[in-house]
Amino acid sequence: MKMGQFVVHVDAIGNHGCQRDRKDGETVVGCDQSQCTDCITREYVRRLKRGGTMMTAATITHWPGSDSEVRDDLLSGKRSGSF
Ligand SMILES: [Zn+2]
Repeated sequence: MKMGQFVVHVDAIGNHGCQRDRKDGETVVGCDQSQCTDCITREYVRRLKRGGTMMTAATITHWPGSDSEVRDDLLSGKRSGSF
């Protein structure tokens, strides 16, 4: 492998929205349930970080482009928007 920029993009339909009780501006740490798609994604980002990958952005966007859009920043843990 060689060093350079890359982008991972996953567009999915399924159960999502870990810790929906956390509102706009609050931190989502994760529920760590094995079937939680958000936590599976969060773990993937953690593994990349542990492996030395430098990330400038890692987000899960729920209902992208809609009025009810909620965005979870996986680097800071901060949620933007509320369920
Ligand atoms: Zn979870």
